[in-house]
Amino acid sequence: MPKMRAAQVARPGGPFEIVEREIPQPAAGQIRIKVQACGICHSDALTKEGLMPGIQYPRIPGHEVVGVVDAVGAGVTQWKPGQRVGVGWHGGHCGTCDNCRNGDFFACTVNLQFTGIAFDGGYAEYMVAPAIALARVPEELSAVEAAPLMCAGVTTYNALRHSAARAGDVVGVLGLGGLGHLGVQYAVKMGFKTVAIARGKEKESLAKQLGAWRYVDSQASDPAAELQKLGGAKVIIATVTNGDAMSAVQGGLGVNGTLIVIGAAQAMQVTPLLLIMGQRSVKGWYSGTAIDSQDTLAFSVLSGVRSMNEVYPLEKVAEAYERMASGKARFRMVLTTGK
Ligand SMILES: [Zn+2]
Ligand SMILES: [Zn+2]
Repeated sequence: MPKMRAAQVARPGGPFEIVEREIPQPAAGQIRIKVQACGICHSDALTKEGLMPGIQYPRIPGHEVVGVVDAVGAGVTQWKPGQRVGVGWHGGHCGTCDNCRNGDFFACTVNLQFTGIAFDGGYAEYMVAPAIALARVPEELSAVEAAPLMCAGVTTYNALRHSAARAGDVVGVLGLGGLGHLGVQYAVKMGFKTVAIARGKEKESLAKQLGAWRYVDSQASDPAAELQKLGGAKVIIATVTNGDAMSAVQGGLGVNGTLIVIGAAQAMQVTPLLLIMGQRSVKGWYSGTAIDSQDTLAFSVLSGVRSMNEVYPLEKVAEAYERMASGKARFRMVLTTGK
């Protein structure tokens, strides 16, 4: 049997192991991808550290996957070998439960699958995925460019495009890391008065480079007050994982404004009077499904939005993961297979 290299985790909290495995065969309804690049996301910690119940080990993480269709299983009609494709966090849904019938695929109650959690992900030379999880990757994007857009990109793009903000509105982006540096670019290209909010004077030049209209240093000033001086934000997307930082910006929402939480913080404080008096709201946003990823890639080509990446070969997965976990990555870590 032909073999492939893969980076697997053998047990919750265990180290990455570079192993040889048989190249998996696609079953009915599945496709096999020859993986070219895979981003490393914070959520890969769920697999690495065993933070989600029910994961079967050994497991190969990775849900920012880009490669080429290599083989198709029985019954797959929409994909052919040779096509460039990507797979993101949303790895599949049943299509028949009531939530799916309502179009809320992220809330599927029967067969909601996350890539690299329910099935092996992209830290490998090959992977198999449900055909329903695939997005087309345009020629204009390299595999390394496209990979981080499959989770970090779609999460920020999709949250913004489904928000109530309209061209010309003030939109805050809290955080300038892996998610935030993309969020600022998308908000700018969608025509919002984009206010980047982060800690420290030194991030201002990055914010401006990304096209931000204003930068607020949350260590030097109160971000809520600064946003109110600008008329109040129609929308703030919170990309940080710090609940206190989220709590600190809610007062910057304008009337009918919404704080959209996409960073997985433990807890945050919400002030009821602030919500009531201004009819403000706090909501979450799930990244998106395959078509949302495909739209994200297309918009990124159209508008020139790109992730800033550090690229590591698959063998250096442990080092690359540590760099992501340390928060030092500038800004997304991407593994390549050399395929
Ligand atoms: Zn992710
Ligand atoms: Zn369903």
